[in-house]
Amino acid sequence: MKIFNYQIHERRALGGLVAAIYLLLQFQGCAEVPITHRKGLHLVPESELVSMSLQQYDDVLKKSKLSTDTQKVEMVRRVGNRIAKAAEAFLAETGQQDKIKNYKWEFNLIEDDKTVNAWVMPGGKAAVYSGILPYTQNETGLAVVLGHEVGHALADHGNERMSQALLAQMGGMALSVALSTQQEQTKQLFMAVYGAGATVGFLLPYSRLHESEADRIGLTLMARAGYDPRQAIPFWERMSKQEGKSSPPEFLSTHPAPQTRIADIKKYLPEALPFYQKSLKAE
Ligand SMILES: [Zn+2]
Repeated sequence: MKIFNYQIHERRALGGLVAAIYLLLQFQGCAEVPITHRKGLHLVPESELVSMSLQQYDDVLKKSKLSTDTQKVEMVRRVGNRIAKAAEAFLAETGQQDKIKNYKWEFNLIEDDKTVNAWVMPGGKAAVYSGILPYTQNETGLAVVLGHEVGHALADHGNERMSQALLAQMGGMALSVALSTQQEQTKQLFMAVYGAGATVGFLLPYSRLHESEADRIGLTLMARAGYDPRQAIPFWERMSKQEGKSSPPEFLSTHPAPQTRIADIKKYLPEALPFYQKSLKAE
C-alpha cells in the first residue's frame, strides 16, 4: 500500500515537471536582457501582457486622481517622451526594436503625495505619483526614475516575475488555461508585479538583480536622452534618507542597500557618460 502511494506521489510530481517543461517549450521561454545579455524566463506571451496592461492602465487612471498641475504634467510627459525616444534608438541600434514595436507610450502624473512611486507597464503605459517629485527635484531627477522604470520594461522583468509567480502558483496547469480561467487571480498578480498593486492590496517587489539591471539600462537611457547620468547618485542619496517614513514598494524596501546601489551606479557610469557627452555636442 505504501509503495502504491509513493508511486502516485511520484507520478504527480513527474506530471508537474512535464507540465512545466511543456510551458517552457510552448512559448519561446527565454528572452535576452539588453546590455547585460542575461536570459530571463519569459512564459507569458507579450500580446497577452500588452492587452492586460491596456485594461489595467485605464482602470488605474479611472480610480486615481490625475494631477491638474499643467506644468508638472507637461514635465512628466516631456521627460518620459525623451526617455522613450532614447529607448527606441537604443534598441534599434542593437537590432532589438521588435521588443517594443507595439508600444504606445503614455506618461501620466497621479496626484498622490503619500506615494513615492512610478511604474511602466508593457506597451509603454506609465504613471508617476506626485509623492516622488520632492525627491526627483528637477527634470534630471525624474529622468533617473523614468530611465530606471523604462529599463525594467525593456528588460522584460515583469514577464519574468509573472512567469515565476505563475509557475509557483499554478505549476501544473497549462498557462493558456490559467490565463483564461484564473482571470481575477492573474489580473491581481499582474498589478502586484508591475508596481500598481496598491489598488489590489499587495505588491511583488523587484529582486536585487532586476534593480541593478534597471539602474544600468536607465543610466544609458537618460544619458542618451540628454540628461546627466551622474545625477543618479544624489537622487538615490535623497531617496535613501526617506527610509523609515512610508514604505514605497518600488523605491525602498526591496532595493539594494543605498551604498551598494551607489557603488554599482559608479561602476556603470563610464558606460553611460559618452552618450551624454555626445548628446551635448548634438545640441
Ligand atoms: Zn526598480
